[in-house]
Amino acid sequence: VALAGIEAARAPFRGARWKVGPIVAAEGSGGEVIEAVSPTGSGAVGTVTLASPADVEAALAAARVWDAPVAERAEVLRRASDLYEARFGEIFALLAQEAGKTLPDAVSELREAVDFLRYYAGEAREGAPRGVFACISPWNFPLAIFTGQIAAALAAGNSVIAKPAEETPLIAALAVGLLHEAGVPPEALQLLPGAGDVGAALTSDRRVDGVCFTGSTETAQAIHRAMAEALDPGAPLIAETGGINAMIVDSTALPEQAVRDVVASAFQSAGQRCSACRVLYVQEDVAEPFLTMLQGAMAELAVGDPWELATDVGPVIDAGVRDGFTAYVEAARAEGRLIAQGPVAGAGHLFAPALVRVGGISDVAREVFGPVLHVASFGGGEIDAVVDAINARGFGLTFGLHTRITARAARVTERIEAGNSYVNRNQIGAVVGSQPFGGEGLSGTGPKAGGPDYVARFYGAPRAD
Ligand code: ADP
Repeated sequence: VALAGIEAARAPFRGARWKVGPIVAAEGSGGEVIEAVSPTGSGAVGTVTLASPADVEAALAAARVWDAPVAERAEVLRRASDLYEARFGEIFALLAQEAGKTLPDAVSELREAVDFLRYYAGEAREGAPRGVFACISPWNFPLAIFTGQIAAALAAGNSVIAKPAEETPLIAALAVGLLHEAGVPPEALQLLPGAGDVGAALTSDRRVDGVCFTGSTETAQAIHRAMAEALDPGAPLIAETGGINAMIVDSTALPEQAVRDVVASAFQSAGQRCSACRVLYVQEDVAEPFLTMLQGAMAELAVGDPWELATDVGPVIDAGVRDGFTAYVEAARAEGRLIAQGPVAGAGHLFAPALVRVGGISDVAREVFGPVLHVASFGGGEIDAVVDAINARGFGLTFGLHTRITARAARVTERIEAGNSYVNRNQIGAVVGSQPFGGEGLSGTGPKAGGPDYVARFYGAPRAD
């Protein structure tokens, strides 16, 4: 379908208001009602009833494993994938409205969610499910990551209690509705909208047999501690967290291609991807012309309303993070380290992509989860030191390299500790099935999502108690 046709499908949902509360199989009692506010600046997206402690209790009490035959579970997940595709207009509208996603970003997000459903349907096997899985997901891929976690747990026959990010419960509710419509029983898939406290209530409850989590490293560590205190030691935590991802561009790289790939890696989805490039290392003898070209490409980016087809970079998720980025970039400016940032005007939490110089190759201590790219240069003999500096950070999610020296590509990708390495292309995402995604070290526990070992982690002997 041409983009214009897709645009026509989402248009009727512009300005719509959605509504969600806990979706639990037993009687719960709703908590506080809040307005969901759009990052686009267009006001309310709808109302959300947060899960109360009584809802958490109701969900845990009602949870039942999905004991349908393997073939039926697979069939239901495939049917859900068809429903996702059929409802693309509303999905794209909600992704724009609730999460600030541009149309191309929404299209690829739906594709990934559908791929997860179909791939994990094909991975369903005979075997004992673990029991109740808490699936706790972030706002940056509110459909794809949310769906991937749930689909893997359901393929293995578990009962899922999903806790979506507090920023994006409406798209989560739409997805759960489609999964139920496809035939997932209500007691095998429940939804608890709410903040971290709802997640913490789940992960510290002994009735939860496993946790699937995507979000910050700090939260993964908190969940790990809560599980160690409360759960059976055999209950798995499958965690996918952040990264301080780097890309190296050496003096043999094709500049036009490298610039295009840097822009996509750092600024697509307004940099709000765990895989995004955060630190760019450019070989010093080409650094000046390369950064000039990069600034030219950044100046071309249209930052604005995700409802406009011409928009390349939509808003960041909320005013708080936008203000944090502004303060970060202003501090860099005051220190004389801001290389470039374009102007920005318009409604919503917009933040123009920025280029910030760092002092040395081992600088950059934390992940800035937005469109801010750090730059350092390195000398001809320093490439091993750059790799060491990247590895020393302890994160190992994605890595990119632009070079035309084959032996260098082999050596660097061999030494780098990263779950996903990309050579002479952008460092974006993964392909469900053929290119699984996941990190090492502080970036996650493995196994890689969308890979052959993933669903296996959701099986296990039921616990004795
Ligand atoms: P992000 O920085 O991407 O928002 P978080 O790790 O804060 O990452 O959030 C990811 C998910 O984890 C969200 O659904 C959030 O509500 C949930 N969460 C936050 N704190 C906790 C906690 N202590 N226990 C369980 N889940 C939590």
